[in-house]
Amino acid sequence: MQKVINCPCGFVLKGDSDEDVVKKAQAHAKQVHQMDLSREQALAMAKPA
Ligand SMILES: [Zn+2]
Repeated sequence: MQKVINCPCGFVLKGDSDEDVVKKAQAHAKQVHQMDLSREQALAMAKPA
């Protein structure tokens, strides 16, 4: 199932699965926000696409 995260910075991130969206969210959080995002935090932000 596709999931989408709308980051507060305006970045929209899509994943093909929970794993995919979590991986992309963690990479984005680290690169752009210097933040370590947990799997739970990433999934809490994810919505069905
Ligand atoms: Zn962001």
